[in-house]
Parts: sequence; structure tokens; C-alpha cells
Amino acid sequence: MFDSHCHLHDDALFADAKVVIDSARQAGVTKLLLAGVEQSGWSRQRALSEDYSGVYCALGWHPWMAAERGLDREQLGALEAALADGAIAVGEIGLDKSARYADRLAEQAQGFADQLDIAAARGLPVVLHVVRAHGEVLALLGKRASSGGIVHSFAGSTEIARRYLDLGFAISFSAAICSDRPQLQAVARFVPDDRLLVETDAPFQRPRSLGQQRYEPRHLPVVIEKLAKLRNSPVAWIAQTTAANSIKTLRIRSS
Ligand SMILES: [Zn+2]
Repeated sequence: MFDSHCHLHDDALFADAKVVIDSARQAGVTKLLLAGVEQSGWSRQRALSEDYSGVYCALGWHPWMAAERGLDREQLGALEAALADGAIAVGEIGLDKSARYADRLAEQAQGFADQLDIAAARGLPVVLHVVRAHGEVLALLGKRASSGGIVHSFAGSTEIARRYLDLGFAISFSAAICSDRPQLQAVARFVPDDRLLVETDAPFQRPRSLGQQRYEPRHLPVVIEKLAKLRNSPVAWIAQTTAANSIKTLRIRSS
């Protein structure tokens, strides 16, 4: 299984990363994409990807960081330098119009566009974080060169998913599909087999069924089992297909 989005650099998991990765492997989750948020986490991500096979890095400035004051030349230069050292994607990047960040959309859009260009110049896929801003993100993507990528923790409508699919993106589902959201569950049935990905977003977005347990990549089967049920497909088939799709979308060559 391939967890297409998790945050082992986060303080909740990093000190314990060896245990977290070993128990993920024991559960059959042998590949992880660590999503970037800000520069302070990138070196942690890189250290993990160097130490453990099957652990890969996306590096980027999260829209929450871009919202603070936009991204300046120095921050973008730091990203370009960091990307030169083994990252396989740029992210997570995007736009977030949730209450706390909605009034900083111009700053976010500038940082997002600059990072899209950085990714396109390197031929790297992107990992998108989009909250209540699909129209704006799709408009920006439509205007720029892009190498495609992943829409992380998708929560939009079927029509919005179709527009990302038309642009070549894969759709990643998190444990959000486990809660009672008929519209999102319809999307989970709609996405074609070859564009379907799964993620935990651990340690965040913990599914209710886990109670107060720490949420880790080893819990990815919770998402896979729900997706299998929604699509009326065998669990093992969803596990294999989503892993193969992650490898293809992220252009990972077998080593
Ligand atoms: Zn994330």
C-alpha cells in the first residue's frame, strides 16, 4: 500500500519515526509520500527519505504559509535549492479559503502560481491543498503549464473532480470518505480506476473510529476498506491499484 500524503516531520510523529515507519511496513503500507509544509520541516523529510526506502518527499510552501505575507524571492529560492536534492514533487501547495485564510487570497495565489512555475520548470508533479477554492485553483491551473499531480484529500463535487481529471490530475481520498458525506462518497465511486489514490494525512484528519489513538500511516487500511466498500471492489485490488497509481503519478522508478 502507498500512503500518498502524510506528515512524519510533524512533532507528533517525528521523534518516533522509526516506530511509525516500521509499524506501517508491518501493516503492509510500504510506501509513503511525505508532504511539505514549510522550510523547517523539509530537512526532517529529507532525512527520513534518505534513511528509509519507500519514503519519498514532496517539498513546498503550504498555502497557510503563503497566506502570511506571500512568498518572497528568498523563500522561493530556498525551495528551488531544496528540490534539487531528491524531492519527487512540489507540495503541498494551493489555495485555502477557510475562515482563517480567506482574506489572504492574493498572497496565497501569488505563492501558488510561483510554485506551480517552479514545478513545471522541473517537470515535477504537484500536490494540491485546496479548501473552498476549487474554482480559483482550476482557473490558475488552466492558464499555466503543469506536470499534473495529486489533489490531496479531495472534498469537492463530482463535477469538480471531473475538471481535475481533465487536466490530468489524480484524486487522493483521505478518511473524510469514512464520515457521512454522500456527495463525497459519490465522488469516491466516480473517479476512474487509474486516477484513484489514498492517503492518511496523518497525524491529521484522524478517523473517528480510531478514538484518541495517534493517527499514523499504518492506519491507511481504514481508508482503503471504505473505498473498497463504496466502489464494490475487493480490498486487495484497491490497495494494489492505488499503490500503482501513486507510483505512476509521482513517476517513481523501481529501484
Ligand atoms: Zn497535508
